[in-house]
Amino acid sequence: MQTQLFINGQWVAPVQGGTLPVIDPATEEVFHHIPAATAPDAEAAVAAARAAFDHGPWPRLTGKERAVYLRAMAQGIRDRLPELARLEVRDNGKPLPEAEWDLGDAAGCFDYYADLAEELDGEVEPIALADGRFTAKAVREPLGVAVAIVPWNYPLLMASWKVAPALAAGCTMVLKPAETTSLTALELGAIATAAGLPPGVLNVLSGKGSVVGQALIDHPQVDKVAFTGSGPVGSRIMAAGARDIKRVSLELGGKSPFVVFADSDIEKAVEWIMFGIFWNQGQVCSATSRVLVERALYAPLLARLVEEAGKISIGNGLEPGTLLGPLVNKGQYDDVLRHIERAVEQGATVACGGKVAGRGKGFWVAPTVLTDVPLTADAWVEEIFGPVVCIRPFDTEDEAIALANDSRFGLAAAVMSADDARCERVAAAFRAGIVWINCSQPTFTEAPWGGYKQSGIGRELGRWGLDNYLETKQITRLVSNDPWGWYIK
Ligand code: NAD
Repeated sequence: MQTQLFINGQWVAPVQGGTLPVIDPATEEVFHHIPAATAPDAEAAVAAARAAFDHGPWPRLTGKERAVYLRAMAQGIRDRLPELARLEVRDNGKPLPEAEWDLGDAAGCFDYYADLAEELDGEVEPIALADGRFTAKAVREPLGVAVAIVPWNYPLLMASWKVAPALAAGCTMVLKPAETTSLTALELGAIATAAGLPPGVLNVLSGKGSVVGQALIDHPQVDKVAFTGSGPVGSRIMAAGARDIKRVSLELGGKSPFVVFADSDIEKAVEWIMFGIFWNQGQVCSATSRVLVERALYAPLLARLVEEAGKISIGNGLEPGTLLGPLVNKGQYDDVLRHIERAVEQGATVACGGKVAGRGKGFWVAPTVLTDVPLTADAWVEEIFGPVVCIRPFDTEDEAIALANDSRFGLAAAVMSADDARCERVAAAFRAGIVWINCSQPTFTEAPWGGYKQSGIGRELGRWGLDNYLETKQITRLVSNDPWGWYIK
């Protein structure tokens, strides 16, 4: 486990020497201390990235050349996958198979953007001009120094969604992981070194968001901030970016609906509802946390859901068979329990779940199903970011769509029905950036990811993810020999 910051290809102690404890959420044991970067470290990291972009080889390499490094980083993650997965579990609490899945996806993300980097070579789009005296073309170029700020729910995976496309595009960057889960992001520095990445191309700073994160987003030498996290911090990033017109992309929260029609297979519906809210302890931005069930299916589905939710094995993510680990930290644990209490005060019924009694240390919340939740209750409106689902019946398709869309968020939405035409109709009506039909949550590197409304700006993954790190340049050439004749007749 790293104890220093990764700046300009070197491991260095933070200028002000601070550290932050790393706490295992299953045992509450402090098992490590990470370096806490502050403003002078941000200054050094941005200077390194700036120099690597302005004077170094990275943006001047061909896409094919950059792809070699990206593939080496993918391999570096795969070579260390068992060890990195255990770090992720101790840092975040998630079950080991989920951590292994995430890291496989993180490696795949580097391979995918290696392919796209190769496709950038020679990418020139001729522009047909109406004025035949000129020709024009459009080319795309790396946009400069990027800062990537990521949350704690999928630590290395969220980092990879930004680092891989930024490097593929030819940007240089500073990665700022969440203070609660920085271990694997710091290891990415070691993986970059082993891959031979030139100094300054990737810098990794662990530390508090309000300190080093703020210093990075305020830095005038930064061209782009890519952020995944909460809405309030997203707003701060937009405000900071506005000052020097930084490029900003934001992946924020959600309160995503899952509409289940009565012709659905009840077992499949229960399986996908649970996957949509209990995977990763519900700490998933796209979690389908509002379930709407057509009235004829509501009572039997609720009974099966409560029965199956009660069977989910809760435990330390490192124990075989665990399907639900602890929440990431004390703050999140208190927050989720407060949400459940408040839901009851506001009229909801806890059909199952809540605080886990008798497990001793650790931040345990059982899979929780809330019924009778008023539409104005916080539990229905606000993102809880825990294993808590609200479920209610509906009578008509129009009512279901109206309820689904009645949110300030618009990240994801899901629909299940045996009627394909109905699924397509409802998918078209959802105001959300990601729509799942007959499932919830499957996520693919090739497909665009991001939200409508207050769920964010821009898209990650796929070719859209690469666009985040490219500028488009127009090059126009005069080809006519005729005099222009404006001033000189
Ligand atoms: P958060 O906003 O508290 O923190 C996210 C990151 O921002 C962390 O690295 C943090 O250190 C940093 N940060 C905090 N204050 C900062 C500041 N002033 N300046 C710069 N950086 C700062 O979010 P979180 O609690 O870590 O993550 C949970 C949130 O993330 C949820 O709202 C969730 O929905 C969202 N999320 C969204 C997606 C998506 O793709 N849309 C994916 C995962 C998580």
